[in-house]
Amino acid sequence: MPWHTDTVETVARTLQVDASVGLHAGEAAERLARHGRNDIAATRPPGPVRLFARQFTDVLVLILLAAAVIAGIIGDLTDAVVILFIVLLDAVVGFVQEYRAERAVAALKQLAASEARVMRAGAVATVAATELVPGDVVLLEAGNLVPADIRWIETHGLKTEEAALTGESQGSDKQVAPLADPDTPLAERRNMAYKGTLVTQGRGRGIVVATGMATELGRIAALLQAKHDNRTPLQKRLAVFGRSLAYLVLGLCVLLFVTGVLRGEPMMTMLLTAVSLAVAAIPESLPAVITAALALGARALARQNALVRRLPAVETLGSVTYICSDKTGTLTQNRMRVEQWVVNDRVQTPGAATPATAATNMLLRALALNTDVESDAHGTPVGDPTEVALYVAADQAGYRKSELRLTYPRIAELPFDAERKRMTTLHKETLAAPPELTNARAARSGSPPSPSRGEDSGTAESIISFTKGAPESVLPLCRQWLNGDAITAAALDTWQRQAQELAAAGLRVLAVAFRTWPALPAMLDADIVERDLVFVGLVGLMDPPRPEARAAVMQCRAAGITPVMITGDHPATARAIAHTLGFIEDGGEVLTGPELERLSLQEFEERVEHIRVYARVAPEQKIRIVKALQDRGEFVAMTGDGVNDAPALKRADIGVAMGVIGTDVAKEASDMILLDDNFATIVVAVRAGRRIYDNIRKFVRYTLTTNSGEIWVLLLAPFLGLPIPLLPIHILWINFITDGFPALALAAEPEEKNIMQRPPRRPDESLFAHGMWQHILWVGLLTGGITLFAQAWALGAGNAHWQTMVFTVLTFAQLAHVLAIRSEHESLFSQGLRTNLPLLAAVLAALGLQLATIYHPVLNALFKTQPLTATELAICVALASVVFVAVEIEKWFGRRDQRQTQSG
Ligand code: ADP
Ligand code: MG
Repeated sequence: MPWHTDTVETVARTLQVDASVGLHAGEAAERLARHGRNDIAATRPPGPVRLFARQFTDVLVLILLAAAVIAGIIGDLTDAVVILFIVLLDAVVGFVQEYRAERAVAALKQLAASEARVMRAGAVATVAATELVPGDVVLLEAGNLVPADIRWIETHGLKTEEAALTGESQGSDKQVAPLADPDTPLAERRNMAYKGTLVTQGRGRGIVVATGMATELGRIAALLQAKHDNRTPLQKRLAVFGRSLAYLVLGLCVLLFVTGVLRGEPMMTMLLTAVSLAVAAIPESLPAVITAALALGARALARQNALVRRLPAVETLGSVTYICSDKTGTLTQNRMRVEQWVVNDRVQTPGAATPATAATNMLLRALALNTDVESDAHGTPVGDPTEVALYVAADQAGYRKSELRLTYPRIAELPFDAERKRMTTLHKETLAAPPELTNARAARSGSPPSPSRGEDSGTAESIISFTKGAPESVLPLCRQWLNGDAITAAALDTWQRQAQELAAAGLRVLAVAFRTWPALPAMLDADIVERDLVFVGLVGLMDPPRPEARAAVMQCRAAGITPVMITGDHPATARAIAHTLGFIEDGGEVLTGPELERLSLQEFEERVEHIRVYARVAPEQKIRIVKALQDRGEFVAMTGDGVNDAPALKRADIGVAMGVIGTDVAKEASDMILLDDNFATIVVAVRAGRRIYDNIRKFVRYTLTTNSGEIWVLLLAPFLGLPIPLLPIHILWINFITDGFPALALAAEPEEKNIMQRPPRRPDESLFAHGMWQHILWVGLLTGGITLFAQAWALGAGNAHWQTMVFTVLTFAQLAHVLAIRSEHESLFSQGLRTNLPLLAAVLAALGLQLATIYHPVLNALFKTQPLTATELAICVALASVVFVAVEIEKWFGRRDQRQTQSG
């Protein structure tokens, strides 16, 4: 339907909604049921049944089952049943892993879902964006993501950015009037906005015409869906690696099969043995386990106020070498308070008896009127913290906005932007202007610049504009004193110096000015309105640092991460706060945005690694900082909240958006959202990222070493002239009890002791770095060696229990190994067994199950095992401990090397 050619009335009628009231709850629910959720449905995640069924689709498992059934028919039926049973158990474990991963991922998506403001039954309500329905009336403003396809019914200076849809990154202006041509291309339908695009300026109201897959974005998504790959880089690398590993293992199994047959073993036995080994030794569950580790880690992080939007971020957090953080609100509490103001060169503090000079009156009036603060239902002022502080200071001095706005209604404004660093409001001065202002005006009368001409009677209606902003942005625009004298260069210098002094004490400084007009300027342009101002005074605000920020900064530095502060504030303010928080030493370097602008890319790159504080930075400059750092090989986390921060957030390796004050656009561009806007939370996340990655490594190390041990045992036996050491059911059983739960419990491993004292991991570092390969090979070989030693020794001694012993030594060795690799460095003795209870439980359970297969008569029959004597059991335990001792010695050498490099 060509919505863009219809009038607003027709659109509303077609969609059966009264645009000024919105839908009623019942209607909305009914439409939601009819049209479905407003989701771009990624291919629907498989349900539990499909997930479970998928466990049996592995070709090898199918071959194993087929072979077992054939073997059962021609020979031993119990064998076939036991194999079936173990495969079933394995499938349950695999299912649990994948199901947990799916659930955790879904829960994360839910948490990160965005909200929309809508009109419902005549009132503004906030609903989940997924619950929007056609006919809903949505309210959008700069910073919002358009949540569905909408037809505008009201626009105010509205601009959107539609690159996501049309590929055109230029903003387009929006309007309400219908268009004539039904074939107008999407990019030119100025009365429409499409899901997934951004509102960059202004505000507006629109009727939802399409949701979910019916939107333009949904149509595109449907086309693209087929080749959508949302695996993390680690998973992709592992998938490639897993495939080569699978071929290797298959090759070895073929070798095993061939040597066995050549030695005259029955073909069917060798086939079952080889296939069982292949099933046991190919780590096909690795990707699911890693997703589970990442997603569960991300869920735990969400409880600590770090909401990870993209799973790969969890994995790469540990590689962060630079954290570039906003100051206001992230390092500070964003609880601004006016500490001082300076009028007529006199410093005053709020609360102290305020001399009622014309200047002070004008200042406080400006503070009350030139702020976008409203008090809510409970009388609490809401708005930007800087503005709230100014409003409160004025209010406490008796200048109430609620009263003043009656005599000085605001008629126009030039809103604050971080580029200009100032804002202006224009007010009508009504007849009832109080006497102070008339005095002030009288004092100015006869002054040269034009604005005040002809309005000194105090009765004519005229316009007054208030401007406030960064001193170096406002002072150069001032032309005269309150008393009408022209400003001298010396006076300007004095004020600059006063501003500098306030800033050096860590205060945010604003300069306040005003101007009167005979009529509203025809052009509401900053160049025209913000000039020839009358200087009123300076205000200094304090924003106390967050109490936990300093410790977090120190942690970063110990962990080889450079924390960097970025702020739009004055360099002196920035320096004072940065010093308090430990970013820089006394007198450390601060680079300002304008200075940054003057540096060539090369000059900047040479200095970038030494700069810890940036001041007077415009959001657009953040991307330069990220790029320069990345060119130097750094891995950068960058915070942001505004629309203009989005490019830098996207570019950063970890883009971090503010959850409380951040815009949708910043959130959408981010990898992680700070629910508490707190710098310390980034450090918490980095720390957790390091732990999760460590634990993934531990899991991989354990699983692959286990597999390597099993392969060595079966492959080497014939070459040593030994009979096949294990039955297929033994192989499958060992794989099930050692790989399943103990391996999973490694995810619960607490962080390594030195986790925040070691340098960040290089992002391109292999998962198998730091001797993991070697470990997998040599510990596997050692495990195989002692197992075969047990076999050879028992056979030599004519022991009929030799196979049970081989079975037991191999199982125990794996359990000894998992205990030894809980930490990469620390010994188990200093770590203690109780620091990972899930693992301890898993190991004890595995131990119990193994003992059951040795001593329970029914299991003896099923597993073809015999009860071991106490001596035999003791020998098994002793042999298995060799692995434990060997790995502890490996760690001891590692610790010694570390000590030596540290002292050397
Ligand atoms: P930050 O990066 O610390 O959040 P901003 O970009 O918000 O800094 O602000 C930059 C500068 O703009 C401030 O130092 C202040 O001088 C000025 N400023 C901030 N808020 C306002 C406001 N509401 N009205 C006028 N000027 C402001
Ligand atoms: Mg700010």
